[in-house]
Amino acid sequence: MNKFKSMEDKLGLNKFKPSHETHLKIRKEVNGKKVDEKNLVENVLFVCPAKVYTYDENKKEVIVSFENCLECGTCRVAAPDEVEWQYPTGGFGVTFRFG
Ligand code: SF4
Repeated sequence: MNKFKSMEDKLGLNKFKPSHETHLKIRKEVNGKKVDEKNLVENVLFVCPAKVYTYDENKKEVIVSFENCLECGTCRVAAPDEVEWQYPTGGFGVTFRFG
C-alpha cells in the first residue's frame, strides 16, 4: 500500500465548521476603479489550493465557496486589492488533521 496520499486525500482529512457568514469577499471597486476581473482570475483562481474561487457557468461571476477555505492566506497575498480577507468568526473554519 502506498503510504503517500494525494493532495485531495489529505485535504479530505480536514474538518470544516462553516460560519453562516462569509469571511472572504471580492471587492467590486478599489479606489473608485472597478476590480480587474482578469487579474483576479489569473491570480486568485490559480493559487487557491482549495479551489474556493470558481467562475459561474457563464464565466461572468466569481463564486466564493468560503466553506472550503483552508485559511492559508495565499489569496490575500496574490490579490490584496481584490480580496477582502478575514479569519472566520471564532469557533468556525478549518481544523487540520494530518494523516
Ligand atoms: S485563504 Fe487559502 S484556501 Fe482560503 S480562499 Fe484564500 S487561498 Fe484559498
